[in-house]
Amino acid sequence: MGFYLLKTSEIVIKGRNRKFFEKILINNLKEKLKNKSFKLKNLGGEFLLEIDGNIEEELSKIFGINKVLEIKIFDNLDSVKDFLKKEAKEKGIGIKLKVKRKDKEFNMTSKEIFEYLMGELKYFTNQAPKETKEYYLIYYKKNFFIGEEKFKGYGGLPVGASGKGLVLLSTGFDSPVASFLMMKRGLKLYFLHFHSYPQTSIQDIEKVKNIVQVLDEYNLGSELYLMNILNIQKFYFKNIPSKYLVIFYRRTMFRLATKLAKDKGIKVLVTGENLGQVASQTIDNLKTIENATDLLVLRPLIGLNKQEIINMAQKIGTYDISKLPGDDCCSLFIPKHPATKSNLKEILKIESTIKDKIEELEQEIYKEKELLKF
Ligand code: ATP
Ligand code: MG
Repeated sequence: MGFYLLKTSEIVIKGRNRKFFEKILINNLKEKLKNKSFKLKNLGGEFLLEIDGNIEEELSKIFGINKVLEIKIFDNLDSVKDFLKKEAKEKGIGIKLKVKRKDKEFNMTSKEIFEYLMGELKYFTNQAPKETKEYYLIYYKKNFFIGEEKFKGYGGLPVGASGKGLVLLSTGFDSPVASFLMMKRGLKLYFLHFHSYPQTSIQDIEKVKNIVQVLDEYNLGSELYLMNILNIQKFYFKNIPSKYLVIFYRRTMFRLATKLAKDKGIKVLVTGENLGQVASQTIDNLKTIENATDLLVLRPLIGLNKQEIINMAQKIGTYDISKLPGDDCCSLFIPKHPATKSNLKEILKIESTIKDKIEELEQEIYKEKELLKF
């Protein structure tokens, strides 16, 4: 069995709410490791994990964990000292040490412990070490935990600690990255994808499923809703000036997302929208689209460049799926140069003339929605 110390960053400083965050993190860890045998102990803002095998792949996807140390446990300081001497000698390294007492029972202060261990160690290597490594020593209930960083996590807040969010998820690069960023801030995500089958292909739906599969490794239990908007797109195509089609599609998406969110007790929508990336993402158009919902809309990518988004997609594992060829329901029936400026009043005026039909079609779409669970 190996021993690991999982360090959190923000959770430690959450004061009186710390217990709330810790409980969610523990549940997430248990869910992630449910097929393995392990022991987990809360040392107060840090967790001791006893487990076999390589855990980097799994633990690095648990938000809230900042660093993972591989550690040894000793019950006296002399053994710690021997361990450090051996590490320095065998690895030919200099040692930096951080000492922390989690309970103040021990009769030496952190500073005294440091002096006791390092005073001698300083003179131990007479050659200048080629590199220096940082070790952490933690005293907790008569035990010394000592070790070095094995890998980093993404930090952030455990998924669920900030509540629930509904993502409008396409198969492009952006919305999966937006999802990642919001999970990192503690949102438990639900996913909604619009398609226009059979105008758009079945591969489009496979793609979105594969994306959710990847995101689920962070989200730990996901629901993907599918809505077919083909009929309403055809209706708009016949009744709306083509330069406004995207805006009408988008407003329908926002209304349907809002209805689903409210039915599920979700208070926030998440999109991969970005300022200026495509024609529908000017300030005027973002505003006109947003007017179709009264929920808070989070757009975590708003200020990122495309390359920054792509880099992140590669890191989180959605890039290879998004880059596969595929259709996008929003590019159906639309002109090469959609309007970049929309006047909300004008859009609302057009919309009001066909309001009943829109409502009827949207109700139909909502009724026919499909749900996939991960
Ligand atoms: P993405 O890379 O996420 O597709 P994009 O740069 O292609 O974004 P748009 O296609 O204008 O930009 O989409 C903007 C946002 O609208 C998307 O990030 C997503 O949140 C939402 N969206 C677009 N198409 C769909 C869809 N078919 N189903 C659900 N949401 C969608
Ligand atoms: Mg897109």
